[in-house]
Amino acid sequence: MGELGLMSISVPESLGGTGLDYLAYAIAMEEVSRGCASAGVIMSVNNSLYLGPVEKWGTDKQKEEYITPFTTGERVGCFALSEPGNGSDAGAASTTAKTDGESYILNGTKCWITNGFESEAGVILATTDKNLKHKGISAFLIPKPIKGLELGKKEDKLGIRGSSTCSLIFEDCQVPKECLLGPVGAGFKIAMMTLDAGRIGIASQALGIAQASLEVAAEYASKRLAFGKPILKLQTIQNKLAEMALQLESARLLTWRAAWLKDNHINYTKEAAMAKLAASEAATALSHQCIQILGGMGYVSDMPAERFYRDARITEIYEGTSEIQKLVICGNLIKEMAL
Ligand SMILES: Cc1cc2nc3c(=O)[nH]c(=O)nc-3n(C[C@H](O)[C@H](O)[C@H](O)COP(=O)(O)OP(=O)(O)OC[C@H]3O[C@@H](n4cnc5c(N)ncnc54)[C@H](O)[C@@H]3O)c2cc1C
Repeated sequence: MGELGLMSISVPESLGGTGLDYLAYAIAMEEVSRGCASAGVIMSVNNSLYLGPVEKWGTDKQKEEYITPFTTGERVGCFALSEPGNGSDAGAASTTAKTDGESYILNGTKCWITNGFESEAGVILATTDKNLKHKGISAFLIPKPIKGLELGKKEDKLGIRGSSTCSLIFEDCQVPKECLLGPVGAGFKIAMMTLDAGRIGIASQALGIAQASLEVAAEYASKRLAFGKPILKLQTIQNKLAEMALQLESARLLTWRAAWLKDNHINYTKEAAMAKLAASEAATALSHQCIQILGGMGYVSDMPAERFYRDARITEIYEGTSEIQKLVICGNLIKEMAL
């Protein structure tokens, strides 16, 4: 993926990236995830959640150190917002970063971190002033491995099993003040803006799973005979395939629209949430129907349908659950309508 420029699609060429736009990123993410959703999330986290904020908020020195070596696929980055006590309620971060002369000392646990095992740097969110609640959260750019940072066990997951997920445990981890990413107290804003872009990536990952589900189902239906003819000739199966294609294409248009808005510097928070909600629900629905159309063959690992079904499920959870996407959509609707 690195050789093909897929690990840094929207990073400018001057920093070693591929220099394309977010629409190109969305299309590439879908294609990779059509083959393998685990590869998709490794790519998505490096592109959107790691390189994205470093490019936007990093100093020239940080960009040199933390972007260019991470554009080629030889190194990957991670993004650590979630904690054992708070996932959706990201503003309640309890990991602390206390000043100590020219350093910060980090303490606390970040959990569910994609690329947590392999990553050689991470964007880490920690509170620098608990009294200010979400306005007291700051972002840090931290190299790995580093003294005071231990990795938890590799999570044993339902799906995307080719992607590692683990906790990052900080115990008196001392980092120089230059590790701060963006201004003190800007961490929550950085995280939310990073997730807006990340949701386009996850929507595209979901589209890839949905597209693969449609292809496998249609192909199988064209060959599988029942009652003397291919099941593709049955109107029930045709209805299913039509509904699958409709749900997929609607979600794809929402996703590409969110990417187009981002590329044109137009606010896209609501559209990214809509894209992620629609595409993740499409992935779940289409992979469900794919198994149904394959019958017994859908239930065993000889065919990829059961993997699509397992991989699809996470797209409704990470980078904001479906419930949280609805809050984001309605919150923006209320603002737009001045209600
Ligand atoms: C495989 C995997 C990879 C991940 N990768 C990363 C990563 O790289 N970096 C990272 O920081 N995090 C990562 N996450 C964490 C992920 O983003 C969180 O799991 C997710 O945001 C949900 O948080 P939670 O698990 O704490 O659920 P909770 O926040 O406890 O939510 C539980 C349920 O309550 C609902 N709920 C919560 N609040 C509300 C509300 N206000 N209104 C309505 N419903 C609500 C939720 O929708 C959900 O159904 C990953 C998770 C997994 C499983």
